[in-house]
Amino acid sequence: MTAPKRDLAREIAWFNDRMGKTKRIIVGQEDLVKKATGKIRKFQSDLQEDWHRLKVLTELQVVENGLPENISILRSKIAQKIKHASRRDITIEQKESLERELVVMHECIRRLCQHPFVIGYPGFEGSQSNDFDDAHHGARLCLVCSFGERDSGSIATEDTENGFSTLQKQPGRIVKRTDMKIVQGFAFLFGGISKIFEIDLVVILNLFDKKAGCDWVDWPKEMSVSAK
Ligand SMILES: [Zn+2]
Repeated sequence: MTAPKRDLAREIAWFNDRMGKTKRIIVGQEDLVKKATGKIRKFQSDLQEDWHRLKVLTELQVVENGLPENISILRSKIAQKIKHASRRDITIEQKESLERELVVMHECIRRLCQHPFVIGYPGFEGSQSNDFDDAHHGARLCLVCSFGERDSGSIATEDTENGFSTLQKQPGRIVKRTDMKIVQGFAFLFGGISKIFEIDLVVILNLFDKKAGCDWVDWPKEMSVSAK
């Protein structure tokens, strides 16, 4: 007695046929995935462009809003008084009185200012190759009222905002990164603080207008104070 004959050739043909179809389906689906991936990339790039454009527009809006009138007036009064106090043809009493007034006005502007135009540099957590000795804190400085802040506690790196309790990024405030020495130059010297008031508000607004959307600002040399 022999085993019943099976139609193996037919079964083989059927499986070959089915595998061929499955392969074609896979190729078709891969093609769809490729197309979809391309579309997603295009959407991601559009989104990135829109995000950047939005950033530019948002910063331009802050520049256009400028400063509230009271702050802008107070700022130019401070600038005038600093100039006046540095004159040689005034008496010591006049100079001291101007300096006392300046202290009060300075405190006042710092209290009222919303710190819309800020420059600074991020902290660095240090590199392993240097045993983290090269770690340093970040610092920020308001160009309107000269309020400065160093990050405290944890280091604020490029991607984090830790440690800045006042000058953190927020709507209505532009924070631009610039050379560390520039910020330190302004922050270290008392004269450096007053230097900020010597920079005309229009100059600051123009600079932020020109650099809208950029994280970094090349600080103009003529507006710098060197750190001691
Ligand atoms: Zn301020």
